[in-house]
Amino acid sequence: MSKVLVVADIKQGDLKSSTSELLSKAKAIGAERAVVAIGGNIESLSSDLANAGSDTQYIANDPGLELFSAGPYTTCVVDAARQFDADMIWFGFSESGKAVAPRVAAQLDAACATEITDVILEGGHIEVVRPAITNKVIQRVKINTDKLVAVVRAGAFEAVEEITGTENVVELSPPESDLKAVIKELVSDASGEIDLADADIVVSVGRGAKDQAGIDLVKDLANDLSAGFGSSRAMVDGGFMAHNKQVGQTGKIVAPTLYIAIGISGAIQHLAGMNGSKVILAVNKDPEAPIFNVADYGIVGDLFEVVPILREEIKKLS
Ligand SMILES: Cc1cc2nc3c(=O)[nH]c(=O)nc-3n(C[C@H](O)[C@H](O)[C@H](O)COP(=O)(O)OP(=O)(O)OC[C@H]3O[C@@H](n4cnc5c(N)ncnc54)[C@H](O)[C@@H]3O)c2cc1C
Repeated sequence: MSKVLVVADIKQGDLKSSTSELLSKAKAIGAERAVVAIGGNIESLSSDLANAGSDTQYIANDPGLELFSAGPYTTCVVDAARQFDADMIWFGFSESGKAVAPRVAAQLDAACATEITDVILEGGHIEVVRPAITNKVIQRVKINTDKLVAVVRAGAFEAVEEITGTENVVELSPPESDLKAVIKELVSDASGEIDLADADIVVSVGRGAKDQAGIDLVKDLANDLSAGFGSSRAMVDGGFMAHNKQVGQTGKIVAPTLYIAIGISGAIQHLAGMNGSKVILAVNKDPEAPIFNVADYGIVGDLFEVVPILREEIKKLS
C-alpha cells in the first residue's frame, strides 16, 4: 500500500479545501494517508485535519512558523515525510507549495512534478498526468524514482463528502530559524474581496467592457453572485485591474464550479488559467470568439445589454 503525505494548505488559521481534495484522491488510490500542517496557533486544527480524511497528523506549531518561509517549511515537510516513510508528498496549488515542493524533492532524492491533474499507480510504479505548453498537450509521465513530490493543479481532484480519518497527532519539533531570509511582515490585499483561488464562482471581465464603467457593471454581477472577480490580461495591462486579478498562464489558475467570462475573447493564455472550471458561461458579441469553443453555455450579445438582464434574472432566483 502506498503512503501519501498531504501538505495542508492553511490560510489565516483556516484549512483550505485543497487539503480534503488531495486526501480524497489519496483514499481513491487506496493509499495510507497522513497530513502535515505547519504554522503558528494551529493546535486546534488537528480534528479538522482528521475530518478532512487523514489518519496521522504531523503538526509543526510554533510562533516562528506563523509567516511562510520556504526553508523552515521545507524542513518540517521533510521531517514528516521521513517519519511517515511517505512514497508521495502532495502539495495543493499555491505559491508556497510551488516554492517548497522542489526543495523537499531535492532533500528526499525524489522526483518532482508540478501542475499534475492525475496520479495513476500502475505495475508497481507511479505515473502522473499534467498539461503542458499552455494546455496544448497532456503528458503522462512515468516516475522512475521510489518517491514523488507533486504539486496538484487547482480543482484537479474532488473532495469526497463522507471521507473521514482518525485523530493521531504527532508533534514536530520546530526547525532552527532560517537565517538566510526572515519575513518581517506580510501585507495582504485589504480589499476583503473573495480570493479567486477559493471562489466557487468566478466572474471575469475582458477588454469588451472597455472602461471603468463597464468593469463596474460586471463587478456588480460578481457581487450579486458572491463570486470572485477576475480579469483577462488585457484589462490588467490597460491599468484597470490589479495583477492579482489576472486569470491565465501568467496569472492565477482557477477551477471554480462556475466561471463566467464577460467580454473575453478566449486567447489560449487566458484559457490556460480557467479551462479546468466545471461549468463555463461566456458572454461575447462575436459568435466566432474562441471562448465559445470551451464554454458550456454561451450568450452572443452586447455585454452592456446582457449583464443587466442576467442580474435581473439572478435577483428573481434569489
Ligand atoms: C506570454 C503571454 C502570456 C499571457 N498571459 C495571459 C494571461 O495570463 N491571461 C490572459 O488573460 N491573457 C494573457 N495573455 C494575453 C492574451 O494573449 C490576450 O491578449 C488576452 O487574454 C486578451 O484579453 P481579452 O480577451 O480581454 O481581450 P480581446 O482579445 O481584445 O477580446 C475582447 C473580446 O471582447 C468582445 N467584445 C467587445 N465588445 C463587446 C461587448 N460590448 N459585448 C460583448 N463582447 C464584447 C470581443 O468580441 C472580443 O472577443 C498573454 C499573452 C502572452 C503573449
